[in-house]
Amino acid sequence: MDTPERIPWVRPRFEPDDGLMAELRECLESGQVTNDGPRVARLEEALARYLGAPDAVTVSSGAMALLLSASALGGGGRAILPAFTYIATLAALVHAGFEPVFCDVDPARWTLDPGHLEELLARVAGVTLVVPVNAYGVPPDLDALHALARGHGARVLYDDAHGLGSELRGRRHHEAGAVRCLSLHATKVLPAVEGGLVVAAAPDLLARLRRLRSHGLDVPLERSVPGFNARLDELRATLAMHGLERFDATLDRRRAYGARLRAAIAATGGIFVNQLHPPDVRSNFANLPLHVPAPGPGGVDAVAARFLAAGIQTRRYFHPPLHHLEAFRGASLPVTERLCRGMLCLPLHARMEEPVLERLEAAVAAVAEALP
Ligand SMILES: *Cc1c(COP(=O)(O)O)cnc(C)c1O
Repeated sequence: MDTPERIPWVRPRFEPDDGLMAELRECLESGQVTNDGPRVARLEEALARYLGAPDAVTVSSGAMALLLSASALGGGGRAILPAFTYIATLAALVHAGFEPVFCDVDPARWTLDPGHLEELLARVAGVTLVVPVNAYGVPPDLDALHALARGHGARVLYDDAHGLGSELRGRRHHEAGAVRCLSLHATKVLPAVEGGLVVAAAPDLLARLRRLRSHGLDVPLERSVPGFNARLDELRATLAMHGLERFDATLDRRRAYGARLRAAIAATGGIFVNQLHPPDVRSNFANLPLHVPAPGPGGVDAVAARFLAAGIQTRRYFHPPLHHLEAFRGASLPVTERLCRGMLCLPLHARMEEPVLERLEAAVAAVAEALP
């Protein structure tokens, strides 16, 4: 028998058709390929409408969305973030002059723990920013976190790189917090190849971000400030727009695949554990994580090796937790510690064929069964 094709843990999809290719061609022929062209403007309008937000600013990546936002909020001081996130969250804060303070996550939801946040805010001086993170499509309890931050005079920068299309209390956008940053990276739910998005309620902040992404240039030029080159270009805006036009159907599929894989995980009777999807949350299934509370000898790497032997690539994500980075050691975060020891993401793509889904379901059952 042929060995079945390896299923990668992420698989970017652009669904190129004649319409998309014609638009890319037209864009190239027009000569207007970047610098605030019409396609970027159209995409920003469409994304704001989709989210139900007044305005949205595109940038060159999710990481730059975070860096520009943190720089625009400015002021320095300490920023509280989970260690259970991607390194880009930390990098943006550090480059914008904040000192990071790591907070633990909720043991079931895997997002910033309001209880530990409250304790840190009471104990740590000089906190000016709180940075919750959407984990795999599940938003944190933003209202609770925002209330705590506000009570201590800190602002909220929401790292929602995973979260486009996820819903909290029936809405795709919550005003709670100062700034929300999303990613349009190839591995996220709406790929522009590389790209990011910032949504905020304050028009002056968004205007500032539009200047910062274009070298800080202002009118008159003497008013310019040192900025960045962090623009999205017209070609990538075209790709994202094409994806956005199909995004509802993409999310329907992701949710259907995700529900099946979560059922397979639930059926392992606690050998693998699902992330909690609270009743007021609707995930966009950016990823399909599972936790292995007792991976046995060889740890979770041995579990990953068993999946790989079945032709299934998994990823330890997020790993390592940021408080394990040599330069940032010291925090004691028992929940993060435990989670990261057993966290794996299964493949979940925008489009998966039935035989692939069946292989994944069968592998979840078989790998769980085979664990000591
Ligand atoms: C992907 C990701 C980012 C960075 O987004 P890019 O578009 O890849 O720069 C930031 N934070 C989190 C949690 C992410 O997963």
